[in-house]
Amino acid sequence: MIRTLCLSLALSLGAAVVTPSAVSAQQSSHASSPSMPSATEVWNSLMEGNGRFVAGKSQVRDLVSLRQKLASGQSPKAIILSCSDSRVGPELIFDQSLGDVFVVRTAGNVADAVALGSIEYAVDHLHSPLLVVLGHQKCGAVNAACSGEKMPSPNLDAIVEKINPAVAQAKSYAHGDDLVEAAIKENVHQSAKDVFANSEIIRDAVKSGKLKVVEAEYELDTGRVTQLNASASHHN
Ligand SMILES: [Zn+2]
Repeated sequence: MIRTLCLSLALSLGAAVVTPSAVSAQQSSHASSPSMPSATEVWNSLMEGNGRFVAGKSQVRDLVSLRQKLASGQSPKAIILSCSDSRVGPELIFDQSLGDVFVVRTAGNVADAVALGSIEYAVDHLHSPLLVVLGHQKCGAVNAACSGEKMPSPNLDAIVEKINPAVAQAKSYAHGDDLVEAAIKENVHQSAKDVFANSEIIRDAVKSGKLKVVEAEYELDTGRVTQLNASASHHN
């Protein structure tokens, strides 16, 4: 039931981006071609891109020809769930370009139903092998959750409610100035956990080895992205 719903949603999403026939062609080319790199290769290429960004040596790209080439379809190598914060644009900090990364952004990188549906589309139809859950230093959404203050709207409340379990976890060992930073890391774990717990499609993809999940944090001061979970895989 959930799968059927998702497939029809994904098909309409596909139709909005490229024609349905292009979606089918892309699917069949994926099924027959092993051209998609492995999750580890993709993560390594993202980290190389982050190294170029940190060093101020981001690549110069011919966006016009890339745009024209990509008009017939997309095959992003990674899905990135990140915060909406204007300072953490994933394409920039990983030095990627058009068509490289399928980005889902919400304040506090929370994985709500719409974010999960977006990730499911990329997993199920675009076959991206890697999902990066990316938090960042000085996250305003996590800071708001740590403050415990009442939010001015139900929508803002919905964000904070997704972060609250991470704050509770962080409070068990961190206090004062350390609390927000600890909660930011816990919130990355929490989002990765929510992704796994609340999406059958993503869970199946991880279990069958088609998708790996990397938890990471972006540091505003240095521009560096650091992996938080030890290996490029996810658990239960
Ligand atoms: Zn943030």
